[in-house]
Amino acid sequence: MPSPQSLTALLLLCASTARASCAYGTHLHARAEDGAVKVNTFGYTGTISPLNWLSLDPAANAACATGRTQSPIDMTQGQFSLIQAADVQLNLPDIAETEFENLGTTVEVIAPPGGSMVANGTTFNLKQFHFHLPSEHLDQGRSFAMEMHMVFESDAKQIAVLGVYLDTANGAGAAAAPAPAAPAAAEAKPKSKSRRHARDVESPESKRQVQVISGGTPSSSTQSIIDAILAAMGVSGGATTGGSVGNVGNVINVGQGATVGATTGGSSLIDTVMASVGKITTPGSKTKIGPLSMAGLADSLKAGQLQTYSGSLTTPPCSEGVRWFVSTQKQTISLQTFDAARSVIGFNARFPQNKLGQENVLALAVAANNARAAAPRAAP
Ligand SMILES: [Zn+2]
Repeated sequence: MPSPQSLTALLLLCASTARASCAYGTHLHARAEDGAVKVNTFGYTGTISPLNWLSLDPAANAACATGRTQSPIDMTQGQFSLIQAADVQLNLPDIAETEFENLGTTVEVIAPPGGSMVANGTTFNLKQFHFHLPSEHLDQGRSFAMEMHMVFESDAKQIAVLGVYLDTANGAGAAAAPAPAAPAAAEAKPKSKSRRHARDVESPESKRQVQVISGGTPSSSTQSIIDAILAAMGVSGGATTGGSVGNVGNVINVGQGATVGATTGGSSLIDTVMASVGKITTPGSKTKIGPLSMAGLADSLKAGQLQTYSGSLTTPPCSEGVRWFVSTQKQTISLQTFDAARSVIGFNARFPQNKLGQENVLALAVAANNARAAAPRAAP
């Protein structure tokens, strides 16, 4: 166990390095003036995972462990208001050329000035859009392959995020959200000086012990087993065209009468963006991309509805008061695009938070652990 002095020194060191990515390009996480990409120091596994973001910077990241309106959430009845997307004046002009950056925790497209959204009389300007894998928000308990976050900021420094579910055409790629585990011990040492990307966190030793899962098509025997399991669950397998979650045109009922339906309006944009992801495999790297046609995505989003609620950044410092708009217009992407994104992003989804207004799940876990430790031992 480290001494109090060494722990304090460690925490002070972390305080200067833990920063946000969901807010990159906003006042909370300004871009470097020299154009360098700031690589994030938090992560999604081990001691820098969401369970331990508080210790990376206890002052700045307090909301991550104590906030009661934290994001992401499971989008169920009563957690959001439903509005027509047409009521939000969404303006997403095409982008001639811009930068595509690897922040270590996500890949992000910098938005040149011009994109905006007007909600309740407030104008929010588009700053950037980035990707999570799998989706951070859940649609009635269900995750999707990915989620795109389009981050806007008003002149008064209010942040609004437009969330868009991305799924492969046959629904493949979505993973179950990780269940929150017990919080890490306070003395856990954050890897603040050696932030590494999810794809290379394995030590050489562990790599030798783990058989690498290679890509490719499942064998026919494996596919038949999967099909049998899915059939028993009442879900069609990948080879079936009718009824399975994620098929184009399939509609899923969600809370308050909203539906999350699949469209392909934004897929060409995302295919174009991810075609360049192989150029930024190293955290801190960037490349030029463009032109990017935003019209297909904009038209698709405008035709749907938005599930809106007041939540938080899903990355440190987990600041609250963020206005969320989660689109009911799920975009379908190709398996090739999903594979390209996954090869660089790896895994970068914060676990689902408690219902809005209820106690932070990390605070609940700490209280339960403290109560257990304080309980008198049972008599022999
Ligand atoms: Zn995000």
